[in-house]
Amino acid sequence: MSEITQLTLEAEELDAADELSKLRERFVLDDAVYLDGNSLGALPASVPDRVDDVVRRQWGSLRIRSWDESGWWTAPERIGDRIAPLVGAAAGQIVVGDSTSVNVFKAVVAAVRMSEDEHGEGRGGRDEILVDATTFPTDGYIAESAARMTGRTLRPVTPAEVPDALSSRTAAVLLNHVDYRTGRLHDLPGLTAAIHEAGAYAVWDLCHSAGALPVGLDEHGVDLAVGCTYKYLNGGPGSPAYLYVRRDLQPRFDSPLPGWNSHVEPFGMDPAYEPVAGARRGRVGTPDILSMLALEAALEVWEGVSIESVRAKSLALTDFFLKCVTSYVPEGRVESLTPTPHPERGSQVALRCSPTLGFARAGGAPNAAEVMKHLITEGVIGDFRHPDVLRFGFTPLYIGFADVERAARVLAQTLESFD
Ligand SMILES: *Cc1c(COP(=O)(O)O)cnc(C)c1O
Repeated sequence: MSEITQLTLEAEELDAADELSKLRERFVLDDAVYLDGNSLGALPASVPDRVDDVVRRQWGSLRIRSWDESGWWTAPERIGDRIAPLVGAAAGQIVVGDSTSVNVFKAVVAAVRMSEDEHGEGRGGRDEILVDATTFPTDGYIAESAARMTGRTLRPVTPAEVPDALSSRTAAVLLNHVDYRTGRLHDLPGLTAAIHEAGAYAVWDLCHSAGALPVGLDEHGVDLAVGCTYKYLNGGPGSPAYLYVRRDLQPRFDSPLPGWNSHVEPFGMDPAYEPVAGARRGRVGTPDILSMLALEAALEVWEGVSIESVRAKSLALTDFFLKCVTSYVPEGRVESLTPTPHPERGSQVALRCSPTLGFARAGGAPNAAEVMKHLITEGVIGDFRHPDVLRFGFTPLYIGFADVERAARVLAQTLESFD
């Protein structure tokens, strides 16, 4: 039996045994294999009608009454409570709104201020912020500005270097749970414990983990966390992000963006700011209701779905993809940057496709951007990350094993076509 038939049969068996396979019907998809859900999740089928209702009835007909009658005013915390179980948080600690970038700013400055109020005037010598040197750039840019504003020094270190870099000078640490480029999953429990041991505050960015694997925010005592909702949570382009502030820290959350929506009495129109208690303290201005309510509809697909089953399927999908790639793609053409051990792997596979990797043709190998362009025309949608990375994201809610086999097969054919 050829390897293709064998892996096709294996994919069929895996799909037949997959308890989550029926969830695919709840998304709007076509014949393409969509492996870019870690950049923009697919559209859940429940969203268009909800958006239509929000626009035509809630806005068009109820107008201003919708702030109360359609639950607009309370949406940021209500939707936060829907995200909470997916990231292992009890209710009342997550608020939805603003972009991830803005929430990174709130969280990092607030963490430094918590450190400061603990140590008083002299700051206890805590004059450093550590940031993941391999981070998605926006987090690094914002951490730099936060450091400048709070009079701290920003020190970029890799997550592996964090334990050694921590000291009595560390005020706060900003880390990514999963590396957006390589798909490496970092040790959130271990690093959070080390950060606490050093007396500092831990801020985690969950953009590439929430909705793909268990996070355990409460269990591991994370201080602050942020994440976006348009990747594995399928909230739609530019859907609002979220901010987690651990319950016991909420009274000390001193927002650098204290807008009227986080005032204890927003309609009191008091010239003096007095923060409200609870998660709402993370709000700034008027919530982006259209995007937010689209997100609320998108989150309905999670009813009755456990994040543990999603994680199990995610690992099975990435294992199977790596197996198919090894089998179909001639040795040396691509190299996986994604760690093999399960505890170190997120829900994506990043393949390096560099000119040095075994191409015979004159002029060397095609570059990764060219390969990805070709893959997309062949119906396999991933993305390219500078300089030489093919990135494939696996959303267990709508990706099956036959998709995975097809993606690897088309990748092999594409690479061959460049010979
Ligand atoms: C996707 C992503 C962001 C996106 O930030 P926006 O403000 O939503 O554009 C930020 N950080 C990380 C780690 C990401 O993966």
